[in-house]
Amino acid sequence: MVERTKIRQEYLDKLAELIKIPSVSAKKTGLTEASDLIKTFFQELKADHVIVDNEYEFPLVLAQFKSAKTDAKTLLIYNHYDVQPAEPFDLWHSDPWTLTERDDKFFGRGVDDDKGNLLARLTALAEYLDENQYQLPVNIDFVVEGSEETASRGLAQYLQKHADFLKNDLVIWESGGYNSKEQQELNGGTKGIVTFDLKAKTAGRDLHSSLAPVVDSAAWQLVAVINSLRNPDGTIAVKGVYDSVRKASERELALVDQYSTIDEHLLVDSFKLTAALLNNRDKTDLLKALYFSPALNIEGISSGYQETGVKTVLPAEATAKLEIRLVPDQDPRDIFDKVAAHLQEHGFTNVKAVYTLGEKPYRSDLSAPEIQRVIKATEKVYGKDISLLPTTPGTGPMAYFYDNFKSPITAAGIGYADSADHAPDENVRIKDYFDHVDFIKELIKSYD
Ligand SMILES: [Zn+2]
Repeated sequence: MVERTKIRQEYLDKLAELIKIPSVSAKKTGLTEASDLIKTFFQELKADHVIVDNEYEFPLVLAQFKSAKTDAKTLLIYNHYDVQPAEPFDLWHSDPWTLTERDDKFFGRGVDDDKGNLLARLTALAEYLDENQYQLPVNIDFVVEGSEETASRGLAQYLQKHADFLKNDLVIWESGGYNSKEQQELNGGTKGIVTFDLKAKTAGRDLHSSLAPVVDSAAWQLVAVINSLRNPDGTIAVKGVYDSVRKASERELALVDQYSTIDEHLLVDSFKLTAALLNNRDKTDLLKALYFSPALNIEGISSGYQETGVKTVLPAEATAKLEIRLVPDQDPRDIFDKVAAHLQEHGFTNVKAVYTLGEKPYRSDLSAPEIQRVIKATEKVYGKDISLLPTTPGTGPMAYFYDNFKSPITAAGIGYADSADHAPDENVRIKDYFDHVDFIKELIKSYD
C-alpha cells in the first residue's frame, strides 16, 4: 500500500499538469493535448478499457474499471476537460494556467469547473484501488467530454454510440458543492434551453429617416415581434409553449421550498435591482417560476446606428438573440417551431426566426434508491445538514444521459459559493477538494 499523502500529492501534480493546458473549447485550443493526458491518467490506474473517440467535433475520453463481482452495479462519472476562456487576464491574482495554492485554496482556470472535480475523483479511485488490492465492488465508467462549455456539441451522438458500453445504474454529475448556506448540495436536474436569432429585414438598404412618417423600419418590426412574445407578468405569450410543461410534484415543491437559498430579498440586494420582480412575486411564486417554469430572455438586440453622435437613419435590418430556458417535458425544436408559427400567425412576414442551439431539460425528485445511496455517503462525509434540489435554474446536458440510460443522476462536487467559475480567480477550498475525495471513496465503499 502506498502512503495516502503520496497518492494525494501525485494527483495534485497531475491536476497541475492538466490545468497547464489551456483546453478552451470556445477557441478549440489544447483539446487533443488534454484528452491525451487524461487517457494516460486512466491507463496508469490500469483501467480495463480506455478510449479516446475523435469521431465528432470534440474528442471524448471514456474509461471503464471492472469489478470482479458478477452482479456488480455500474457507477458512471461524468466530467469535462474543456474550460472557459481565462480572459481578462489582468483580473487574476495568479496565472490562470498555473495551479496555485493561496489562503487554503487552490486557484486556476478549471480548478472547480471541471478539472479539479475529475482529479479529486481519480484521487479517490487511486486510493481505493491501492487500499483494496485493485478490487472494486462496483464497475466504474468515466465519460470526460471536451465541449461542456460550448453546449456539449457531439455529446448526444457519442453517448448514443457508446450506450451499450456505458450502461449504468447511477450517474454522478461533473460538478457541485456547497451552497451559500454552507450545505453540501445534491442536485437532480438541469433546465433545458433553446436559443434563436430574430432577423428583421424591411428594405434593400438603410433609408433616410425623413421617410419615417410613411415607411416602417426593421427596428420597429423587431421590437413589435419581441413585445408580442411575452406577457407583462413575464410569462411567454406563444401558443402551446406551456402545453408540455410538467407540473412540479409535491416533493419537488417541498425540496425547493426547504433548500433553495434564493429569495426575493437576496435577488434585490445582491444585484442592486431597481426593476421590480416580475409579477411582484412572493417567495413561493418566485421559486416556482425559477425552478419549474420556462422563461424567455433577450440576450441582445442590435439595429441602426449606435456610435457617437447622431445619425438620422431608418434601419433596413435589425437582429436580436433570444433564449427560452426549458423545463421537462419541453423539447427545444418543438418550442422553436411554436415561436416560428407565432411569427406567421401574427403576420410578421419580415422577421425570420433562426434556430441556433438546443438542449433538453431533465429533473428528478431525488427519491430513487440509488440516490439514497449518494445521500447516505454525503451525510457520512458532510454531516446531516445537506441540501437536496430537484433541479438547478441553469442548463446542462443531463437529458442526454437520461435518454440513453434511464438511470438517476445527481450532482455533487468540490465547489462553494465563491468558486468564481467562468470568472477570474476561479478557486476551490483545499478542504472541500479532499472531502470530495473521501465522499467518492464512501460511495465506492457503499457497494461492498
Ligand atoms: Zn462551466
